[in-house]
Amino acid sequence: MLLIDCPHCGPRDETEFSCGGEAHIARPLAENSITDAEFAEYLFWRDNPKGVFLERWCHDAGCRRWFNAARDTVSHAFLEIYPMGSLPKTDAGKAAYAGSWRRKTASEAAAKPSSAKGGKA
Ligand SMILES: [Zn+2]
Repeated sequence: MLLIDCPHCGPRDETEFSCGGEAHIARPLAENSITDAEFAEYLFWRDNPKGVFLERWCHDAGCRRWFNAARDTVSHAFLEIYPMGSLPKTDAGKAAYAGSWRRKTASEAAAKPSSAKGGKA
């Protein structure tokens, strides 16, 4: 059983929470001209990494407020909890944010094709 540290209520049992899935997914804007396949990609495709993952959580049985978390999917440890509308501050959270292709809309990704995998130090 996990204890999740709600930023509004303090540590509570995991059964009081629900995970709303991946955080920081770029939403297509009305002015974006995207294909049905690109919209389906936005709507249905989600990362499932082994390691640090950025998620949205809701304290359903408590304050009913949403927050973001950087969580290790291997150990289930919560590395960082931070408010909605903000970005992770830990190095692991920043790396998870920067490492995901989900931060750009389909149009942005198409306009600026990413270079080879792997990063520079
Ligand atoms: Zn709460």
